[in-house]
Amino acid sequence: MAKYRFAEMIWNEIRDAAQAGKVAVLPVATYEDHGPHLPVDTDVVLCTGICERAVARIADEAVLAPAIPHGYSPHHMDFHGTLTIEWDTFIKYVRDVCTSLSHHGFERILIVNGHGSNASPLDLAARLTVLANEGKTYCASVSHWDLRKAKTAGAELRDSDYGGTSHGGEYETALYLALRPELVEMDKAVDERSPMQDSFRTDLLAGTHPQGSGARLVPYWSSQTASGVMGDASKATPEKGEAWLEAAVDGLVDLIRELKAQPILPRRDQH
Ligand SMILES: [Zn+2]
Repeated sequence: MAKYRFAEMIWNEIRDAAQAGKVAVLPVATYEDHGPHLPVDTDVVLCTGICERAVARIADEAVLAPAIPHGYSPHHMDFHGTLTIEWDTFIKYVRDVCTSLSHHGFERILIVNGHGSNASPLDLAARLTVLANEGKTYCASVSHWDLRKAKTAGAELRDSDYGGTSHGGEYETALYLALRPELVEMDKAVDERSPMQDSFRTDLLAGTHPQGSGARLVPYWSSQTASGVMGDASKATPEKGEAWLEAAVDGLVDLIRELKAQPILPRRDQH
């Protein structure tokens, strides 16, 4: 099997991978509280675990860039263990990593996000990468719970109702159980939901509330939950985690291939 971890390659192997048209896959997460039962590295473990498995499966088509473990999480700072990066520093940092990849010849870059509040800044980092290269590099971003197959599997596998698969809830706890069960303290897992009204409630796998407006509101985490959980962690099992992991990996393989097949069309300035 071809080497697929960027960090383990020799420089000329990276040149060859770029020239072969491989997609660079960049995991980005954060360190923050995930309730009384999960370690603070939850987003990092889940995101890198999914990317690692997906890229290993298609090593002739993609390269796994070194993960960026830190992200944007100022609203979690009331909980010990959160490490947050200023929003503009974070956006520029990710953009700079992506433009470096582009400089070395990677024309298609996929940022894979593992932390809800990274989604908006990563969208901008991806767009700034496209602009920095006059449109010659395509850079996209996706959160792993938004992958098509993760969502489909989510609807079939979940036992919790709406809101149950949000932060530290059924989905993330199950995935952690599948990846590193020895670190999960299931006897401390709780079911705690956001008191927000429907218009503003979200669920990682189901999206905005069916009676909601689609509006986005992100208050301080400590104003919404005492345990740090927003969801039903008690319904997580390793079996569901395995199935979700497989669905997310499968969904990511599909998306990498879709990005690889995208023709890069030249800019046509009409001036
Ligand atoms: Zn998380």
